[in-house]
Amino acid sequence: MESTLIDNHGIEAQSPLPTPGQWGKEVIKQDEIDKYLVDGKDFIDEKRILNHLEQNQQPDKQRIRDIMQKSLDIERLDADETAALIHVTDADLWQEMYETGLKVKQRVYDNRIVFFAPLYCGNLCINNCAYCGFRHENKSEKRRVLSMQEIEAETKAVISKGHKRMIAVYGEHPTTDVDYMVDSIKTMYGVKGKARNGYSAIRRVNVNAAPMSIADLKKLWQVGIGTYQVFQETYHKPTYYQVHPSGPKANYRWRLYALHRAMDAGIDDLAIGALFGLADWRFEVMGLLYHAIDLEKQFDIGPHTISFPRLTPAGGSTLSTHSPYRVDDDTFKKLVTIIRLSVPYTGLIITARENPELKKEVIKVGCTQTDASTKIGIGGYTEALKELKKIQNKDKDQDETKQQFRLGDTRSLDAVIRELAEMGMITSFCTAGYRCGRTGDKIMGLLKNCVEGKFCKLNAVLTFREYLDDYALEETRKIGEKLIEKEMAEIKSMPFFQKGKLLQTFESYYRKVANGERDIYI
Ligand code: SAM
Ligand code: SF4
Repeated sequence: MESTLIDNHGIEAQSPLPTPGQWGKEVIKQDEIDKYLVDGKDFIDEKRILNHLEQNQQPDKQRIRDIMQKSLDIERLDADETAALIHVTDADLWQEMYETGLKVKQRVYDNRIVFFAPLYCGNLCINNCAYCGFRHENKSEKRRVLSMQEIEAETKAVISKGHKRMIAVYGEHPTTDVDYMVDSIKTMYGVKGKARNGYSAIRRVNVNAAPMSIADLKKLWQVGIGTYQVFQETYHKPTYYQVHPSGPKANYRWRLYALHRAMDAGIDDLAIGALFGLADWRFEVMGLLYHAIDLEKQFDIGPHTISFPRLTPAGGSTLSTHSPYRVDDDTFKKLVTIIRLSVPYTGLIITARENPELKKEVIKVGCTQTDASTKIGIGGYTEALKELKKIQNKDKDQDETKQQFRLGDTRSLDAVIRELAEMGMITSFCTAGYRCGRTGDKIMGLLKNCVEGKFCKLNAVLTFREYLDDYALEETRKIGEKLIEKEMAEIKSMPFFQKGKLLQTFESYYRKVANGERDIYI
C-alpha cells in the first residue's frame, strides 16, 4: 500500500467512508455478545457496585490487614474487599498498603520490569471518542496510515533502541482492518535491525486495537500475536454512551466482551484497562475487578495485564483537559495500589503518558511493565531519528496534530533502564513465556504459585546481558554489571534453581549470550 498523508476531507473525497452506522452494522455480531450474557445481563451491575462501595465505608485496620494478607497469599480479592481498600483514609495504613503492593509484585514477578514500545500504525478512525485526538470529527488531525515500507523503517528504528517487544496500535477504520493488521504484524516480525553485536529483531508483537469478531481475531491469533489489549475506557454505562457518541465503539457490550471473543478465537493472553478520568475512579476500579472475575468465571483465565491510562491532553478535546473526574497524582498512586492488591497475579502497565517522577512512584507500588523512548506520532520513530540532530527543544518533538495525546515521559530507553537499575530493578526483554507455550491457564497457574517469576528471573538476566552488550551507554553498563552480579549471586543461592539441571543450563546459556549468541531462553 502507498503511504497516505491526507486530511479528513481528503479521505472522504478519495474513498467514501461508510457512515458510523453502516460500519457498526458490518462489524458488530450480536450473537457474539449475547452468548456471554447471563440471563440477558452483562457483568457490570451499577447498583451492585454502588452497593459494595456504600457497604464498605470506614473499614477497621484489622480487616484491611487481613485483606492485605490475602493479597500476599496471591489470591484475588472479592468485590467487598476491594471496596474496603478504596475507603482507607489512615495515612499509616496507606503506607502499609504501598509496601504490601511491592511485596506482592516481588513475590509474583520478582524485581524485574518488562519493557515494550508502542507502534502507531495509523490514525484514521471512524469513532468519535470525546477524549481522543484521533476521533473522526477532529479536523485538525493530519491523517496517515503507514505503508509496509514505513512499518519496516519504524520497526528498525524501534529495534535500534534495544526493544524486543512491540505493541501495535490501530485506529478503527476500514483502511486499517484486520488484513492490514496481519500484514503489518508480519512485517514487524520480519525486520532485522542492527545491534552492536550483529542483528536483532522484535520477538513479540502485542496488539491494541478495536474489538473484533471471532473470525477476525482468529486471523490475529494465526499471525502469532502476544497479548491482545482492549481498554473498556469507562465501565460506567451512562458516561460510556456520553463519550462514545457514534461508530461501533458506541456499543458498550461489543467492547465489554471483546476479550471473551479473543479467548474463543484462541488468544488466551489478554489485557484489560480503563481510561481514568472519565468517571469516578472508584467505579472504574470495581469495573476492572468485575472484568477480571468474569474472565476467570467463564474461561478460568484472568487478564494477563491491567492498564490504567490517565486522561491526557489531546488535540481539540476539551474533555481531556476539563473532565471533572481527572485523577490527581496522589489518588493515582492509591488506585494503582488497590488494583495491585486486588488482582495480585496480573501484570500492571504504567506508560509514558505519566511523568518520570510519578512513574517511579507507581513502579514502587507494584507495576511490572512500562515503555520508554516512546513516539506516538504516526511515523514518529523514523522522524525522530531524522530530526534528532536538528531539534534542541525537547518539547518540539511532540506535534499534537499527528499524535493521540501528549506524553509525560520522553526520556530514552537507556535513561529509564539506568534509573531502574539504580533502584535495584532489572530490565527484562524476555519474550520466552508465549514462545514456550506459557500463556493462558498455564501462565496463570505459574503466576499464582509464584513460579513464573523464577523463570523470568533467569530470562531477565539473559536479555539484560544482551542489552548491556548490544545497546547500553557506558554509564548504564557499569550500573548494569553490578546488578547482574547481584542477580547471579541470588540465583545461585536459591534452592528452586538447584533442582535438576536448571542452574547448570542457565549458566551455560549465560556464557553463550556473553559470547555473542542471541535469543536464548529458558
Ligand atoms: N482504537 C483502538 C481503541 O480505541 O480501542 C485502540 C487504539 S487507542 C489509540 C488506545 C487507547 O488510547 C484507548 O483505548 C484509550 O484508552 C487511550 N486514549 C485515547 N485518548 C487518550 C487520552 N486523551 N489520554 C490518554 N489515553 C488516551
Ligand atoms: Fe479511535 Fe481508539 Fe481514538 Fe477512539 S480511542 S477515537 S476508537 S483511536
